[in-house]
Amino acid sequence: MTVEKTDTLVVGGGQAGVAMSEHLSKLDVPHIVLERNRIAEKWRTGRWDSLVANGPAWHDRFPGLDFDDVDPDAFAPKDRIADYFEAYAKKFNAPIRTGVEVKKVERNVGKPGFTIETSEGVIEANRVVAATGPFQRPVIPPIAPQYDNIQQIHSADYYNPEQLPAGNVMVIGAGSSGVQIADELQRAGKKVYLSVGPHDRPPRAYRGRDFCWWLGVLGEWDAEAMKPGTEHVTIAVSGAHGGKTVDFRELAHQGITLLGMTKSFDNTRVTLQPDLVENIANGDKNYLELLDAADAYIERNGLDLPEEPEARKMLADPDCLSNPLLELDLAEAGVTSIIWATGYAVDYSWLKVNAFDEQGKPKHQRGVSSEPGVYFVGLPWLSRRGSTFIWGVWHDAKHIAGHIATQLTYSNYKDPSQR
Ligand SMILES: Cc1cc2nc3c(=O)[nH]c(=O)nc-3n(C[C@H](O)[C@H](O)[C@H](O)COP(=O)(O)OP(=O)(O)OC[C@H]3O[C@@H](n4cnc5c(N)ncnc54)[C@H](O)[C@@H]3O)c2cc1C
Repeated sequence: MTVEKTDTLVVGGGQAGVAMSEHLSKLDVPHIVLERNRIAEKWRTGRWDSLVANGPAWHDRFPGLDFDDVDPDAFAPKDRIADYFEAYAKKFNAPIRTGVEVKKVERNVGKPGFTIETSEGVIEANRVVAATGPFQRPVIPPIAPQYDNIQQIHSADYYNPEQLPAGNVMVIGAGSSGVQIADELQRAGKKVYLSVGPHDRPPRAYRGRDFCWWLGVLGEWDAEAMKPGTEHVTIAVSGAHGGKTVDFRELAHQGITLLGMTKSFDNTRVTLQPDLVENIANGDKNYLELLDAADAYIERNGLDLPEEPEARKMLADPDCLSNPLLELDLAEAGVTSIIWATGYAVDYSWLKVNAFDEQGKPKHQRGVSSEPGVYFVGLPWLSRRGSTFIWGVWHDAKHIAGHIATQLTYSNYKDPSQR
């Protein structure tokens, strides 16, 4: 059997794999990227049909290419984003092989490097970069009940309102996915119950600048660690309908019933946490803090940006917020489907190396793992808050490629007797 050899094998051809390939190419590091589906497949088929980028086109892109057919302040549709990464990879002839799955990576014994089993044979590489994404395995919490007559899906399997049975719907989780899906279902004529946990909700825009710009100039995208106690705080933003601030009161006035966190199920009775008011209040606090920080930045820098006092006005509390439900009977409420917008976990079952802690989380520093020769890219907080996002992964990939190139220099060193 012939064994193909390369210096660096990148697993995954999403945006992280494309960014890795660009930086490795620039540094002349021989490499191959293996992608089991197509380039940026998750943007093509792993998201709901109407999804657009959460950030404007000037921001949610790599530095080397504009979205030439999307207004810089508009939000690119998901298929356009997939096309963008395909075009980007073509631009520098990225050595990406699609339709090839990595089944197993093991460290070689008695010689350097790794042996990689793929669906198309064996490859040996000195280094392996896991670019398989931050959101690999949809997570539904163990409280989920078994139902015959209520359809339950994860947000990863939601595409459009037509796929759901007739009847009302409960959406559990109100981060960017849950909140957008709930809004879409409500607009499609469904009665929606939305279970809301702790969240940040930045204004879509303030005083003429998008929140992506504000987080950038205020240094928040570059924050290196989460603020203590914010581990379970999701971010509720949306580029849908031209980009609007996520406002839970507005959603409720539209007809969505807001609920606290979902605690447990007993047959069709759902018990809810008494935390809705607190979660909404903390989201408001986060929103107002950003406005304050933006005002202070404008003042400090003497910027001429239009005042926007109306951004501080909150709508009246809807009834579901004044009198939050602590229980919901799904049968009585006519709920025929539940969408779990409860996030994702990573899955490195194919990576058989000693690079994980007791909880199975990758051990690394800015993507350089504790296991020499193994690298991770695209993970939440890999180096900073922006690490899972389009622009952030590009910068992390640059750092990792730099580390790899340095190691390659050491590997290639020959002493005078070898030269
Ligand atoms: C609903 C949603 C909306 C988002 N919106 C935005 C946004 O607007 N802006 C933004 O910046 N970010 C957004 N993100 C975050 C992030 O940009 C995306 O999740 C993005 O897809 C991550 O890219 P990635 O390359 O790290 O991972 P992925 O896109 O998941 O790519 C990983 C690739 O690895 C492949 N793979 C996995 N295992 C193997 C294997 N064993 N062998 C070979 N190939 C393998 C997969 O097929 C996949 O193509 C969003 C995320 C979600 C879930």
